[in-house]
Amino acid sequence: MSDSPYWNPKTETMPREDLRRLQGKKLRAMVARAHAKSPFHRRLLDGAGVKPERIRGLDDLKRLPFTTREAWMECQGQVPMFGDMLAQPVDDAVRYHMTSGTTGRRPLRVLDSRLDWKWIAECWCYGFHGFGVRPHDRVFFAFSYATFIGFWGAHYACEKMGAMVLPSGNMTTPNRVRVIEEMGATVVCATPTYALRMAQEARELGVDLVNGSVQRLIVSGEPAGSIPATKKMIEAQWGAKVGDTAGMTELGTIMMFECAHQPGGAHVIEDHFVEEVIDPATGKEVGYGEQGERVVTSFGRGMIPVIRYRTRDLVVKVPGSRCRCGRTFDLYEGGILGRVDDMLLVRGTNVYPRAVEAIVREYPVVDEFQIRLWTEEGIRDEIGVRYEVRSGHEAGAEQAVAALQKDLVRNHEGLNFHVERVPTGTLPRFELKANRVKDDRIVKGGA
Ligand SMILES: [Zn+2]
Repeated sequence: MSDSPYWNPKTETMPREDLRRLQGKKLRAMVARAHAKSPFHRRLLDGAGVKPERIRGLDDLKRLPFTTREAWMECQGQVPMFGDMLAQPVDDAVRYHMTSGTTGRRPLRVLDSRLDWKWIAECWCYGFHGFGVRPHDRVFFAFSYATFIGFWGAHYACEKMGAMVLPSGNMTTPNRVRVIEEMGATVVCATPTYALRMAQEARELGVDLVNGSVQRLIVSGEPAGSIPATKKMIEAQWGAKVGDTAGMTELGTIMMFECAHQPGGAHVIEDHFVEEVIDPATGKEVGYGEQGERVVTSFGRGMIPVIRYRTRDLVVKVPGSRCRCGRTFDLYEGGILGRVDDMLLVRGTNVYPRAVEAIVREYPVVDEFQIRLWTEEGIRDEIGVRYEVRSGHEAGAEQAVAALQKDLVRNHEGLNFHVERVPTGTLPRFELKANRVKDDRIVKGGA
């Protein structure tokens, strides 16, 4: 293998004009195929009056209709089990996965062919190689290998690159920590939350991670991977570098990764995806540096063509030249910033869970925490942060938390935050997507 920092030197450093041409070519082929093979897409395209043969390049992308999660779920309700979005027969599938199941929503069911899995692994290779993983590495997966697609693709990427996979299936946290030490893992894959949880367990077991074998953590599954304070905390507790990635079940793989230069954001894999950023209210595209909703078009998954899918993820796109690595791929500054639907409205003030986490993580005294909302006197919204003190930080905890409380208020237009200490082990721990919001209000003032 070459010593190139890029997995695919040709596309990752391609001039933007050539990249656009390549995307246009792939778009043309994909729309024609989706129209011919997928009843769902044919319905959508015909309904919008789009003739596939009129799609010639990337400039025509805006003429295509959006795909929503609601429409996808609905087609699965009407044509059980997998809906009529599939562009290949069910028999072509070699594995079944589904979304991790947010409460109250029907999960999305996805199928992938053998060829799809090759592509899924290929996309992860951009991220792993780009963050410095090489064939000599031993990669530990703190992941349960179930129907949630999560790190499955990363596992295959490691095999493809020739790195050694250390799977941990349904192991307990103490077992995982011991295996990491015993096997001399050099890379660990986990959610940001679970990386912190394992570090806590290591302290209790007397395992010294900082001077141990792990050099890199590749995180995914939560926005926190790009929150500077959270990242700094994980890096300090592991004595290793943290690289963020983000993917989704709807794509089967990652569409962005942080490179070894750690620019504080993630590069979009633009030879396999087109990412647009729109104003969620109007659907109009916003420019570089403006926050908006990600809309993704994916070229590689044969069974499930994805055209202008509204992800509800909030992002800010900036040019790739922001990073010194030489990639021409655009960056999402700060990674995934949250969800369009995540915003909490508390007495007229907007509160984003990610912003609260960014503040809380500035205080190493806090171990686990939870944002709680409740109704006072049957009418007034209240918000608080419940926290557990990190072992070894008891002295001075009170003072630090007083400063945290002031910080939260200052960053939320004077909205009062109740900050309350709870005994260690009270708050829920998460292995997959963390949910640190407990909304007990009578009327929830969400967006
Ligand atoms: Zn870079």
